[in-house]
Amino acid sequence: MDIDNLPGAGDAAASRHRLQYCANQGLFRHAVPADNGGYGNHFTDLVNAHETLGKAGKDTGLMLSINAHLWGALFPILKYGDTRQQKIYLSGLVTGGLIGGHAITEPQAGSDINALAMTAVQSGDGFLLNGHKRFITNTPIADLLIVYARLDNKLSAFIVHKDDQGAGFLDTPQITGCRSATMGDVILENCLIPAVRQLGKTGAGNMMIQQALELERAFIFAGICGLMDWQLETVIKFSRERKVNDIHLGKYQAVSHKIAEMKLRLDTIRLWVSECARLKDGNKRITLASAQTKLFAAEAFLQSSLDAVHILGSNGLTKASLMADLVIDALASRLFSGSSEIQKNIIAALLGTGDGYR
Ligand SMILES: Cc1cc2nc3c(=O)[nH]c(=O)nc-3n(C[C@H](O)[C@H](O)[C@H](O)COP(=O)(O)OP(=O)(O)OC[C@H]3O[C@@H](n4cnc5c(N)ncnc54)[C@H](O)[C@@H]3O)c2cc1C
Repeated sequence: MDIDNLPGAGDAAASRHRLQYCANQGLFRHAVPADNGGYGNHFTDLVNAHETLGKAGKDTGLMLSINAHLWGALFPILKYGDTRQQKIYLSGLVTGGLIGGHAITEPQAGSDINALAMTAVQSGDGFLLNGHKRFITNTPIADLLIVYARLDNKLSAFIVHKDDQGAGFLDTPQITGCRSATMGDVILENCLIPAVRQLGKTGAGNMMIQQALELERAFIFAGICGLMDWQLETVIKFSRERKVNDIHLGKYQAVSHKIAEMKLRLDTIRLWVSECARLKDGNKRITLASAQTKLFAAEAFLQSSLDAVHILGSNGLTKASLMADLVIDALASRLFSGSSEIQKNIIAALLGTGDGYR
């Protein structure tokens, strides 16, 4: 993959431009069957490509945006779309002509999907959707979103286009962190969509959300590993060059031990992400492994980012160093795709204890 000329980060237009660039490099074709425009290769290949991009791009927001597109829209349509839906959407999603994401969270319901309140009501040969989604990655640049709403009180999925009547894909609220990912509110007011835009069966929404989030949890840190690799290299270089009391910083054990721990965290995330890829390539379930990966990786990303800023001293707080940005990105990573507490709930529930999960 040629990522040397990755366009710069900036506003929504730049964000879309960067995604298109990644699509042109074939990034959205990994683990997609050849019949659907993919490479017909493996999740292991996807992980390698994402890590390479993560290291070159140094941009958590870009990785978030790519993962929302893949696991939020492309893969659900691949898995649950009927032949007609696959024909209409997949080639665009694979080539970047169409950008998507998934709209689950609402202002009053994040971790608790049982509290989701958006409604879908049958109306003639279609559905009328009403409700409010919040913190939806890619909203300002999305052509379509997979929106989860209650139909006859059963959670179900719908493909909503940005130009559907009654659909507002907004550029609010702005959040700190994940620079370059766009995010927004989705307001649906008597939004009328044709019946053929229901994705999957009525009542399948809960399962579809779990499957999308499992994939996101499993693989979003593939790209972030690349970023953390760059973070580690930067800290090592600094510790070998910077002198304090005429001694290189890295000679102080208090510093070198932090660096050793950063390396251990990075390689442990790599092992977890590879394990998820191995399981997916073997058609095995990843519910437990993806929750373990996400929990470990988000906490490790935060600790290593704090350590990196600290070792670089005030240099680590300069805008140019990007290191302080990674601390905020890591805080966001403990929330997106289900918070760390929710991952613990999932792991506990799978061990036959705890309180259920998102
Ligand atoms: C950068 C970013 C991108 C995002 N992208 C998307 C997207 O594309 N699509 C989408 O639908 N959503 C998206 N989200 C929203 C995200 O999924 C939610 O923020 C997340 O699920 C948590 O929900 P909440 O923020 O409402 O917090 P709440 O659910 O209100 O939780 C608040 C706090 O309580 C804790 N908590 C909640 N329930 C429990 C429990 N049972 N046990 C213990 N602790 C608990 C949480 O861990 C958290 O610390 C994104 C969020 C971020 C930060």
